[in-house]
Amino acid sequence: MLTFPVAVALPLPPALSDTIIALSTPPGAGAIAMLRLSGPAAVSLTDAVFAGKRLRDQPSHSLHVGTIRDGDRILDEVVISLFRGPHSYTREDVVEISCHGSDYIVQQILTLLTRHGARLAEAGEFTKRAFLHGAFDLAQAEAVADLIAADSALSHQVALKQMRGGFSQELRELRGRLVKFAALLELELDFGEEDVEFADRTGLVSLLQEVQALVRRLLRSFELGNVIKNGVTTVIAGKPNAGKSTLLNGLLNEERAIVSAIAGTTRDLIEDEVSIEGIRFRFVDTAGLRDTTDEVESMGVERTKKRVLQAALLLYLFDITRTTPDEVQAEIEALNPGRLIPVLAVGNKRDVASEEEIAAFQHLPETVLIAAARGEGLGELQATLLQRVRGAGLDATGAATIVTNLRHARSLEKTNEALDSVLLGLANGMGTELLAADLRQALAALGEITGEISSDDLLTSIFTQFCIGK
Ligand code: GDP
Repeated sequence: MLTFPVAVALPLPPALSDTIIALSTPPGAGAIAMLRLSGPAAVSLTDAVFAGKRLRDQPSHSLHVGTIRDGDRILDEVVISLFRGPHSYTREDVVEISCHGSDYIVQQILTLLTRHGARLAEAGEFTKRAFLHGAFDLAQAEAVADLIAADSALSHQVALKQMRGGFSQELRELRGRLVKFAALLELELDFGEEDVEFADRTGLVSLLQEVQALVRRLLRSFELGNVIKNGVTTVIAGKPNAGKSTLLNGLLNEERAIVSAIAGTTRDLIEDEVSIEGIRFRFVDTAGLRDTTDEVESMGVERTKKRVLQAALLLYLFDITRTTPDEVQAEIEALNPGRLIPVLAVGNKRDVASEEEIAAFQHLPETVLIAAARGEGLGELQATLLQRVRGAGLDATGAATIVTNLRHARSLEKTNEALDSVLLGLANGMGTELLAADLRQALAALGEITGEISSDDLLTSIFTQFCIGK
């Protein structure tokens, strides 16, 4: 009888018997700081240092004012929030101590409670406990970190949806369909000797193809998901005096780069980010591109070429009044041979260009004409940039699930490959045992995403990326 990995229960690590403590607000002076304890002794430990009420007699979800004392010495007046497991973030007893936001007070309280037996929490340990107690799955836990890091409307929206289980639900459905398929194969194996084919092969193929189409849609969404989470690195390149610094300033709406009429002033790479409709663009202004004997400058040119290869998009800026379409094409080709990186050509200084000069460039594909110094055409440029990013045909604002996590994308890739093998096997009349083995791999890869199948190493690598206190 075949067994398919449906859920592998992890033994609870001994660490769960500890009571952990951490500062959950940022360090430094502030109005309020919040320390959080979680674990079996959270309430009794706090009782030992809190004067006001006996917390162990108080109901869950209640607030209590009192003082934290080290013997006779009052450390601070605090507010305690009490949550009893399983009705808490970690599903354990949780005590939150809101004290005055002073590093000194925080350190004193941390020291006092660790002296009483609490252990300093590791990064992400509260969320890891929530996961280990089944409060949510791994993809949801990872979304908690994404939500904290979200800095645009879109990244926030995607992380929130994932944290609330939207993505996990979709994966569960996929998994459910594959398990159904697995069950049919299993039946066939059980009756193997009688050489019966229960599973209707054509039905199976179309079921698998449907599942694979969904997996592939999720995989494709990663391109956009990655952009939403990490931003789009856009290199602005072009000859000296084309107006790169001016354009960057216009896009950033602030004076970051030095604008000057002397060729070759932008010697260094200047990087900044701007959010356009919720998508972050990281603009890199580069040293002017021209053959030069100036050592510092030629280093800049080499770095520009390197940066172009690492970028998601090359914005090639040229001065309409000083070049021809053929020259522009040649310059782009030199910087980005074979156009490995997507290119957007932008003609600048249309305010001083003649009608003929404008006409020469106007109808070129993938070209936008602007006057950076006057802010003209910047709206159209931004719209074109957005269009480029969303070019995959995905509507970022729509209801579709977007994969933003590289780990998830890798697992989906593995699922996709395993499904390819199953389909190939079906087409070639491969034996049921082998089909089942490939199918098991597909299920295992899907299970990695939500943590139904996980290892200690994986969990450690995920949760150590969190901040302490979360
Ligand atoms: P970079 O070397 O490519 O960074 O070019 P800069 O941004 O330093 O600009 C070079 C010169 O072109 C400066 O004198 C700018 O004022 C001027 N310039 C930039 N954009 C425009 C524009 O849209 N129209 C006109 N007429 N001049 C511009």
